[in-house]
Amino acid sequence: MYYISTRGQAERLGFADVLLEGLAPDGGLYVPESWPSFTAAEIAGFAGMSYAEVATEVISRFTGDDIPRDVFAGMCEDAYASFSHRVVVPLSQTTGEDWILELFHGPTLAFKDVAMQLLGRLFDHVLAERGERLTIVGATSGDTGGAAIEALKGSANVDVFILHPHGRISEVQRRLMTCVEEENIHNIAIEGSFDDCQAMVKEMFADKPFREEMRLGAINSINWARIVAQSVYYFTSAVALGGPGRALSYCVPTGNFGDIFAAYVARQMGLPIETLCIATNENDILARTLAEGAYEPRGVAQTISPSMDIQVSSNFERLLFEASGRDAEAVRAMMANLKQAGRFDVAGGILETIRALFIAERSTETETAAMIREVFETTGAVIDPHTAVGLVATGKARHGGRLSGPVVTLATAHAAKFPDAVKQACGIYPDLPKQLSDLYQRTEKLTVLPLDQQQVQRFVASFVRKD
Ligand SMILES: *Cc1c(COP(=O)(O)O)cnc(C)c1O
Repeated sequence: MYYISTRGQAERLGFADVLLEGLAPDGGLYVPESWPSFTAAEIAGFAGMSYAEVATEVISRFTGDDIPRDVFAGMCEDAYASFSHRVVVPLSQTTGEDWILELFHGPTLAFKDVAMQLLGRLFDHVLAERGERLTIVGATSGDTGGAAIEALKGSANVDVFILHPHGRISEVQRRLMTCVEEENIHNIAIEGSFDDCQAMVKEMFADKPFREEMRLGAINSINWARIVAQSVYYFTSAVALGGPGRALSYCVPTGNFGDIFAAYVARQMGLPIETLCIATNENDILARTLAEGAYEPRGVAQTISPSMDIQVSSNFERLLFEASGRDAEAVRAMMANLKQAGRFDVAGGILETIRALFIAERSTETETAAMIREVFETTGAVIDPHTAVGLVATGKARHGGRLSGPVVTLATAHAAKFPDAVKQACGIYPDLPKQLSDLYQRTEKLTVLPLDQQQVQRFVASFVRKD
């Protein structure tokens, strides 16, 4: 199995290289050269398997010969044993044909754990095999940093430096990153904004001598391995609800378009999916793109669903590549326009192809809060704001006749991760699950640094373990 770049100007690579590279050198994103597929009978056969077993089946179609199958099966077992729910990602029914897929039972209470728990193990395996080490540097506005730290703490081959904006993330989000004792984990609180943190990380990657000496690596959401790990729960949920015999629709709270693209991957592999609904908050670039055929980022608005406060939805490039019939030249032209003019038009044919499978719905702040309250009042369940955005979108699409039949809405985070917004919406302050009940008593480890590139790079250099 080989991977090619959406911009068509990078060498094709195998799975392990793509895992370590992240972004292709031509600026594009890696996609498989061709789609592996399952027959309906093979998918039906997933019904009797554990989550880890289905993960092994699905993901090993993408790993090629890079990782021996029994080793990989062991990694999946370990990764999903870290989840607090017996079935890893349980479904719950809300009304007649509406279901919620709970993706927040991992160690840091958001769906990012599903991919990251496996990625940590994949990194360790590949690096040990090659006798290499890596320094992960990343900026986080919330969930990715915690999931990465949890997955990589104690790794022999990886040092992790996560930058977050000092004083600008929730206490639960911060403590899920900083209450970690392992010596390979370093939290840096930057006296600046999330954008400042991200700019600093970009600078480090652009500093070639520094990048090479530190052997910098990234784990951001364009990493192919993260996408493919997320495609697994579309299979398990569909099979639990009668698939592949009946086609379902999914509604996915969307930011960087990674999670919903994972649904597309499952569909390419043979899973019958009727419609994919992109749920956005007030940062509605994707809803506008589908409606108007123009991709046009605007300023980011701060919302109570901060993990979706994104204006450039990176993984959308993968869908553009697919919908254009894998026309790398067309993708290059669109991305060049984005860089030069800050926008691009999506050609008619591409737009029609996208619209044949995808719809998009937007939730305002008021609607999101009202949904948290409504769910609490009608069912007693306390949901998080990202999940609420999804439920608003599902409701609007059903009402408008754009969704029908069984619909699964993804619950991407646990309410306790966003307690203030939830309390404000429904009056209940959600408790942390019992395995984290002492989080507020744990000792934090973090370093506050000023907005000074050289000082941050010196800090990284002084703590990286040299071999
Ligand atoms: C990351 C995240 C999202 C958005 O997922 P994408 O893959 O970026 O579209 C939604 N909800 C939560 C809680 C997240 O952490």
